Amino acid sequence: MLLKEHKVKWIILATCFFISFNIHNSEADDLKSTDSKTASDTYLSNHLPSSLLNAVYFKNHNEINWNNIKDELIFKKNFFTGRRPEKPYTRCHKFQRRISRAIDRSIANKEIELKVVDNNFLFGENSSIETILSPQPKSPSAQCNFHSIGDLSKGCVLYCDYHGIDFESDFFKQHRKEIESSQPFLKSEDIAEIIIFSPYLLMLVIIWFMWPKKKLKSLATNH
Ligand SMILES: [Zn+2]
Repeated sequence: MLLKEHKVKWIILATCFFISFNIHNSEADDLKSTDSKTASDTYLSNHLPSSLLNAVYFKNHNEINWNNIKDELIFKKNFFTGRRPEKPYTRCHKFQRRISRAIDRSIANKEIELKVVDNNFLFGENSSIETILSPQPKSPSAQCNFHSIGDLSKGCVLYCDYHGIDFESDFFKQHRKEIESSQPFLKSEDIAEIIIFSPYLLMLVIIWFMWPKKKLKSLATNH
């Protein structure tokens, strides 16, 4: 009988872990790359620009305060209920992807010669971007301030001072550790996840400590 009780307890514990693990990973899976750039970063120095490592949006949003935690909770609620909301940086990152591809293609086809990409090139009047992109692109948001890194002939790597670099880019994947290590250890997103997972954790604690004692007690009283 006792062996059976323990088996049930372990099955419930495993189920709780499975649910928690899947909830945590389902959001991460949504951010996985479906396509990527061909940029190589071997030509870059080991020091990434501080404006990339500490993009303004993430610097502000990672800060642990109620507004940021509330935003994360609302986002996760919408995400888990299937509404697929967009993060405030999504438009900017998609823009980076689109522009990088267009520039890579134009450089490969020798349609344009470029040393740097910045807001002047992207949005300036009489910019040569009109030869490769028509109509000329519009900025995804008023805060966006774009820069390129490294030799564009080896692949266009674009990032925004405000929204950081596209998470689906090869460059981000290659420098993920470096970029993430510049972020705080505990962020508003982590606190929101702790709040979401706390019922599961509480359930685990209750099952672990309470259930066998209760069952044993009822078994003892029955005999
Ligand atoms: Zn931006």
